[in-house]
Amino acid sequence: MTLNAFDEPEHITMLRATLRRFVEDKAPREKRRIWDKTHSFPKDVFKELTDLGICGLTIPEEFGGLGVDLVAAVAVIEELSRAGAFLAGPFIHSAFYGGANISENGSLAQKQKLLPGLAKGETAFCYGLSEPDVGGDLASVKTRARLSEDGSEVIINGLKRWCTGADFADYIYCLVNSDSDGKKYRNLSLVLVPTSTPGLTLHPIEHSNLRYTLSSDVYFDDVRVPVENIVGGPEMWNKGWGMLAGRTLDVEKIEISAVAFGVAQAAMEEAWQYSQEREQFGKPICAHQSVRHALVDARTKLQACRHMLYHAASLAQENRPCAVETSMAKLFIGENAVEIVLTCQRVLGAYGMTDAYDMERHVRDILGMPIVGGSSNMQRNNIASRMGLPE
Ligand SMILES: Cc1cc2nc3c(=O)[nH]c(=O)nc-3n(C[C@H](O)[C@H](O)[C@H](O)COP(=O)(O)OP(=O)(O)OC[C@H]3O[C@@H](n4cnc5c(N)ncnc54)[C@H](O)[C@@H]3O)c2cc1C
Repeated sequence: MTLNAFDEPEHITMLRATLRRFVEDKAPREKRRIWDKTHSFPKDVFKELTDLGICGLTIPEEFGGLGVDLVAAVAVIEELSRAGAFLAGPFIHSAFYGGANISENGSLAQKQKLLPGLAKGETAFCYGLSEPDVGGDLASVKTRARLSEDGSEVIINGLKRWCTGADFADYIYCLVNSDSDGKKYRNLSLVLVPTSTPGLTLHPIEHSNLRYTLSSDVYFDDVRVPVENIVGGPEMWNKGWGMLAGRTLDVEKIEISAVAFGVAQAAMEEAWQYSQEREQFGKPICAHQSVRHALVDARTKLQACRHMLYHAASLAQENRPCAVETSMAKLFIGENAVEIVLTCQRVLGAYGMTDAYDMERHVRDILGMPIVGGSSNMQRNNIASRMGLPE
């Protein structure tokens, strides 16, 4: 039984039901286990999924989307994340990294060129933000971009780290330092770099979580792209920070929180079921009070996460200010999802450590959630400064 956070619009409830059937049918546990071990996702299943039109939920109708419906798009992430990141990840690369960003920040030419393919899930973006020496302090990126002498091209040199999906995406949404003498925050640009551009080299990083694809170091060696690839058009040169830190960031916090929530929910369902099947000392373990209470406490936290998530998503959908609410959602859900999943893993005892269940993968996936997409501490800093707490 799923508890509802609010009176959900009927079209979202119906969408959930469709996706739940799709996930059960097309992404069974045996396949998830293989995808996890091979750092891959099923391209054919993803194609069937995108044929439902869901990648258009972040894109206006005039550019081939369904009209922006962030609450529905968050519900899609939640439902797909029940099967881990194998379908939710690629969905985010098209609908959010691509669709939401270009809808919000792209030039008219970029919208016309890219949004129809992103809405169909045929085009995907990945993020090139982090670097070896740059995590939370993104405005300090060192990857250097300059204009060619005739002003027609951007030339990029440097190294991006943790570029998840550079192996399958069409474009890197790349944050660069575009004015080495400029003031911090006013010296940054966002550039769309096709992953097929000469001068790019990928070196995958072995890592334990979110293994639906590779996360790579991407080296840029005199990589040249037309100035038309500056996000927002050439006039947005050195104005990248405003595009990264505004509404885009609010949406990013919600989207990662939705993954954490979906994974925590999947872990809860696995533990809830297991606790009724596993018997020790002559009764199901759910009948032992300490197990029973642990599960109920975790489920209660999960319900609080649901409220935080959909409240923040509704504010963003209504274009209301929500920097504080989205940061609170990211902080609360990231931290509580870890606690929920670890509780659930304990309910499975030794079986929470084997790949016979999804639980051990849920644990690996969830541990990164308070870190990726702006760490918990960064959210605490945002909330404190936005709410005027003097330093
Ligand atoms: C699986 C995976 C996939 C990823 N995919 C991508 C991707 O596709 N594209 C991309 O660009 N990046 C990606 N990342 C990188 C991710 O976004 C960064 O890990 C994240 O931004 C945090 O940076 P960091 O790990 O370097 O931590 P740091 O910023 O070095 O922080 C380390 C610790 O110090 C704390 N800290 C730092 N500054 C402060 C402060 N001012 N106040 C209080 N505490 C502070 C942090 O909270 C954290 O606990 C990925 C990471 C992982 C693990």
